[in-house]
Amino acid sequence: SIPLTYFSGIGAASGRGIMVKGSNYLDALGKAGVVFFDKTGTLTRGTFRLSSITGSGIMSDDELLRLVASAENGSAHPIARSVTEAAEKRGLSLLNISDFQEISGRGIRAVADGKTVLAGNDRLLKDENISVPDISAVGTVIHVAADGVYAGTLVVADEIREDSAAAVDKLSKMGISCVMLTGDNDSIAASVAGHVGISEYHASLFPADKVSLVEKSLKKIHEKNRTAVFVGDGINDAPALALADVGIAMGAMGSDAAIEAADAVIMSDEPRKLVTGIGIARKTGTIVR
Ligand code: ADP
Ligand code: MG
Repeated sequence: SIPLTYFSGIGAASGRGIMVKGSNYLDALGKAGVVFFDKTGTLTRGTFRLSSITGSGIMSDDELLRLVASAENGSAHPIARSVTEAAEKRGLSLLNISDFQEISGRGIRAVADGKTVLAGNDRLLKDENISVPDISAVGTVIHVAADGVYAGTLVVADEIREDSAAAVDKLSKMGISCVMLTGDNDSIAASVAGHVGISEYHASLFPADKVSLVEKSLKKIHEKNRTAVFVGDGINDAPALALADVGIAMGAMGSDAAIEAADAVIMSDEPRKLVTGIGIARKTGTIVR
């Protein structure tokens, strides 16, 4: 039978905005030794804003934006949402698209206005043998190709959540290692990790790479009788959420798939709630023993 204190622990956590799906997860949370944070939507808000458009010369900026926004209209990714929003703000009507395809960890492909549009990171275009210029920008660079020809770049920028640095600092003081995982490129990863105080980060990861990094850590951490926590928000994060000892989803902005795959949900999307949750879990564990 499950000691009553576990239920009060779950109740206390839920009163503080952390929904834990079972007493076993609360127990595991109290033994957290490493926390893997997904970057986008977890340590950062995940709400992007378009900050620049640079056409390659084959179409105007507005035409480029219209094309990408139309193609991105099929995607629920926060990057895609920011592009369609920017087009709507400029009063650009979107084109009909067909053959929409989301390419996980890379971007999208769709046919708009009879043109095959690719929009995403450099790997997406390089995979199609389209050469990509080196661009240094503050933000995530969306490279665009139309019918196999480089058409330009859009840059979208995200903001770090206010309490991310404080959460990382507290976790470190509690003896818990923090690791950041991201599909984004190395320069953005380095900048976000630096701002929040995380020294170990892994960039340019595919969703499967995140899973294998978590998997590799499990054995080592279990040998120390500690557990691995993964915090994420996206549809791509579901496998890592399921694999970690405790998968925690951001509940307010997170995808349904992430919330479903998770063992616990932070209802307010504040990383510092993780510190609260681990504190409650540790206390609950102490009372039981
Ligand atoms: P993260 O690991 O930061 O949550 P994702 O795995 O969702 O990021 O995506 C990794 C990268 O793939 C993004 O940083 C972006 O460069 C690119 N990408 C993914 N989806 C899209 C999209 N719909 N439009 C443009 N780029 C995208
Ligand atoms: Mg994400």
